[in-house]
Amino acid sequence: MLPNLFGLDLPGLSRELARLDEPPYRARQVYVWLYKKRVRSIDEMTDLAKPLRARLAAEFELRWPEPADRQLSYDGTVKHLFRLDDGASIESVYIPEEKRRTICISTQAGCPLECAFCLTGIRGYRRNLKTWEILGQVAALMADAPARTHGLAWNVVVMGMGEPLLNCDATLAALRVLMDPEGFAVSPKKLTLSTVGILPALEKLMQEPVRPNLAISLHAPNAALRRTLMPIEEKYPLEAVIAAAQRYPIPRGGLVTYEYVLLRDVNDSEEHARQLARLLKGSRAKVNLIPLNPAPEIPFRAPTPEAVDAFYAVLAAAQITVSVRRPRGQDILAACGQLHLKRAEASAASPAP
Ligand code: SAH
Repeated sequence: MLPNLFGLDLPGLSRELARLDEPPYRARQVYVWLYKKRVRSIDEMTDLAKPLRARLAAEFELRWPEPADRQLSYDGTVKHLFRLDDGASIESVYIPEEKRRTICISTQAGCPLECAFCLTGIRGYRRNLKTWEILGQVAALMADAPARTHGLAWNVVVMGMGEPLLNCDATLAALRVLMDPEGFAVSPKKLTLSTVGILPALEKLMQEPVRPNLAISLHAPNAALRRTLMPIEEKYPLEAVIAAAQRYPIPRGGLVTYEYVLLRDVNDSEEHARQLARLLKGSRAKVNLIPLNPAPEIPFRAPTPEAVDAFYAVLAAAQITVSVRRPRGQDILAACGQLHLKRAEASAASPAP
């Protein structure tokens, strides 16, 4: 298999084209074809001379991840399964809304974090994705969107399989191309990265000149409870994660999102809500409550609607901005926490690092 042209950043393309004795501006031309116009073959790069196209095609392929399956939910959500070169598979989700359309992408095949309520973690970990495998999900889902949605802006959420900040370099490289006006041109305001708070990588993300919105997976209002749900609490405790997130550079008035999966009788009482309100009081925080999306292997139950309302009311009364995430694509296991490795693959998965 030839190396993939898709996934190279501008310095990478410049290097390759310099090797072919091409002037530096060629790299930008190729970059625009790859990420702004998103052509499917080198031959479609019509402002490159035919001999150059032929030389590129002799040395490189241009490909996106191989689609393996596509499931449509009753609510219009589409779950895409991609089969990767080494047999690993990943899922990405297209979520149509009234005034926008959202793509949810994966950064790892599986996930090593083993959060107790998340099917991705329950099914195990396989590997980090490459930059082209991350970008390719966006390219493929954008190309697949129905024509009638073409006027709507894109949102991209890095909330699929895996922990993006455990695959920091490839994820940051992909984000740069996604947000580049000469690339995918997704507005940084419409891009959100969700993380449990891998502190060294979060610091790295903060150093980026252009940054996405930040969402922190909190899920408990204290360390003792968080530890029982999320093993990563041992390494990166919630107080330190919140302190770091509060330093995350966002424009004036911007807020950091704290995600909180509600699990019946585990973390969904009014007392938990009061603790959470105290924890976040005075921070630039908004809380996104996520009623558990169940799956057969997930050993928790969804909260009652009354518990969700009561939890919400406590936060609202404490003047904390709060919203409840509506599940999308639940019938096809496309909702948050429901993406997973296929069975055969999971049993072959390597142990967590
Ligand atoms: N590893 C990152 C990115 C994955 S985002 C992170 O944890 O933030 C996935 C989001 O869905 C997280 O907020 C996660 O906690 C939430 N989630 C996981 N399992 C879920 C489930 N079963 N129901 C609802 N939300 C879930």
